Amino acid sequence: MIEQKGFTLWMTGLSGAGKTTIARIIEDELKARGLRIERLDGDVVRQSLTRDLGFTKEDRDKNIERVTFVAKLLSRNDVGVIACFISPYQSVRDMVRAETTNFIEVFVDAPLDTCIERDVKGMYAKAMAGEIANFTGISDPYEPPDNPEITVHTDQETPEESAASIIRYLEEQGFIPVEVGTAAVG
Ligand code: ADP
Repeated sequence: MIEQKGFTLWMTGLSGAGKTTIARIIEDELKARGLRIERLDGDVVRQSLTRDLGFTKEDRDKNIERVTFVAKLLSRNDVGVIACFISPYQSVRDMVRAETTNFIEVFVDAPLDTCIERDVKGMYAKAMAGEIANFTGISDPYEPPDNPEITVHTDQETPEESAASIIRYLEEQGFIPVEVGTAAVG
């Protein structure tokens, strides 16, 4: 079995910033290396584990609390967790940090204007038209990380470059073995 440590790679950022896009690249690359990886994604989790919850502050907190429980169990059993959640509140992200093993806060940073231009799911248009309440960045706050381990600027680099810098960090920290002689992504 390949030596790896459990970790919780926590991707936070606005909707459309690129969390899922980058996480998928990392997931594919690390699985191809034979590592144990589980990706927890807000959009998926909200259709299953937390489908009873909405987007009020209270429900957002519950959403992250439940996900944290899962990330805690996985990461302490040597699985690498890649979590993609807007998770707009610093205090909540600090709670995740305290609960999970080898927590790495990744700020997936794109200017709000860029996210609005991308409008991947057409949600910003709806939020700006007042059709969706509590939409992060429009009618709900987003607190950028105070002190993230990693920041990727998705308006200035490709998803592959962002993924490569995150994988490099995991290698440097000794959470995953160093892949000699490959710049597999980016
Ligand atoms: P999130 O998970 O943060 O809501 P998504 O990954 O679902 O964001 O959507 C981000 C969108 O931005 C995708 O359509 C992706 O192709 C696009 N995109 C453009 N440039 C980048 C980049 N450098 N990094 C990540 N995503 C990018």
